[in-house]
Amino acid sequence: MSADPDLDVLLDRLRPRSTREAFAEIEAARRAAESREPQRTIIPDPELPPLWPHPDSGLVRFPCALRCGWAHEEDVHEIDAEPVSVPLHAGAEELNRVLTEQAERRAAKMRARVKRAVREHFTQAHPGQEPPERDLW
Ligand SMILES: [Zn+2]
Repeated sequence: MSADPDLDVLLDRLRPRSTREAFAEIEAARRAAESREPQRTIIPDPELPPLWPHPDSGLVRFPCALRCGWAHEEDVHEIDAEPVSVPLHAGAEELNRVLTEQAERRAAKMRARVKRAVREHFTQAHPGQEPPERDLW
């Protein structure tokens, strides 16, 4: 025990684990993963873009799950265009928080755009059919 409780936590984490403790941790993590409900989404599996200097570099494609040839495209260069605003005196922790929040906002907007595009596509090209869902881990 030291005088600093944070240091105690840190030292405890650095303490070598016995095989039994390590196994118990892995078992607990496995059980937690198993009990989690699988999340479902209508967002198709993305196809990653070809590398620069290919003219389609930066375009992530979300192809129709029915393989009709249609795909929604997201330009990753445009997604990154939003400016980041961080106070000059911000420390590493605040910078990390600002960047994480921005990334989460961007991802939520993109998911909404892709879902909207998929629903519009199904209304027009596959009327009466719901977009199939897939497991998301
Ligand atoms: Zn389609």
